Amino acid sequence: MSIRLDNIAKHFGNTQALEPISLDINEGELVGLLGPSGSGKTTLLRIIAGLENADRTAQPGKILFGERDVTHVHVRDRRIGFVFQNYALFRHMSVYDNVAFGLTVLSRKHRPSSGEIRARVYRLLEMVKLESFANRYPAQLSGGQQQRVSLARALAVEPEVLLLDEPFGALDAKVRQELRRWLRHLHDELNFTSVFVTHDQEEALELSDRVVVMSNGRIEQIDTPDALYRSPANRFVFEFLGDVNHLEGKVNNAVLTCGDAHLHVDLPDGHEELLLRPHEVRLTQAPTAESHLPVTITAISPVGAEVRVELEADWLAQPWLATVRHTDFEHLELQRGQRLYAHPRHWRRFPESVSKAPEQRHVA
Ligand code: ADP
Ligand code: MG
Repeated sequence: MSIRLDNIAKHFGNTQALEPISLDINEGELVGLLGPSGSGKTTLLRIIAGLENADRTAQPGKILFGERDVTHVHVRDRRIGFVFQNYALFRHMSVYDNVAFGLTVLSRKHRPSSGEIRARVYRLLEMVKLESFANRYPAQLSGGQQQRVSLARALAVEPEVLLLDEPFGALDAKVRQELRRWLRHLHDELNFTSVFVTHDQEEALELSDRVVVMSNGRIEQIDTPDALYRSPANRFVFEFLGDVNHLEGKVNNAVLTCGDAHLHVDLPDGHEELLLRPHEVRLTQAPTAESHLPVTITAISPVGAEVRVELEADWLAQPWLATVRHTDFEHLELQRGQRLYAHPRHWRRFPESVSKAPEQRHVA
């Protein structure tokens, strides 16, 4: 089921939670709403669900599910599955009854027979690998298992749209990873349309077909994870999507100077701030003619396929982070306290006053 939001805005009293937003979600798509706390993600999701009404202004907004205008349709009649962060299972009901709940409360006309309900509940429990837990109570399950029950419960009514609000937020990192794969798998298998809210950029980038980046009730960018990461529309998106190192100083005759550090840049004279990701920092034993950025290693931590190296210097307002491959790490014999030189492989600048489009440079 495709979803179209047209000119949807929301105020709570004087607070504008959402500026007028328009958004098209394709049938079968898995879309992540990503943004910091308070950016309006939950509000947007609740409006899609019908748990909240959009503002009724001179040009009222519209919500379409496929061809159907659901703007004024009650949540009960929107055919939506909902999963919240805090499981929200019925504590006094078994796993089986929790999953069956949405079916048992349907009007007699729409309710499947008890045999069909049983078959459907067990099929769902099998999908989330909890068929042997049917008689347990929520308190007898781990957080990850409870959230799998929530997922099965939301899917029992065969929703055309599944909405999830920070569904994995309360779980530890490993379980969260596992549940992400579950969700992606179920989504691909059952072919519904999903919108999920997260403030975790890694989660959004890993799980989504497209990501909607929000801040202050506005949509900053809508793109595939790859496009978002490679071509952030503005500084907010770039900074929100990962660690960023800043290099700020004055450019004079194509040399940016900051304390005792300097870097050749092909830019006009004036104040500049360059931004680069940790993997765009190269570390060497000596400066070059183009770049002289002396740094000292203050911390080293191996994380997965890379080593994270924290760097400090007089000319830096905040420490820098560099990620290097294990082979380079060994080759350079990096140690805490070591003096090195940083070289940007690539940087960006976001001259807000000139245009919103970023400028990128590769450094030879
Ligand atoms: P997010 O889910 O991105 O953290 P929310 O959609 O919950 O953000 O909130 C967006 C803004 O709307 C915030 O400023 C929040 O304080 C405000 N807000 C949300 N719900 C209500 C409400 N029921 N009453 C008043 N203000 C609200
Ligand atoms: Mg929220």
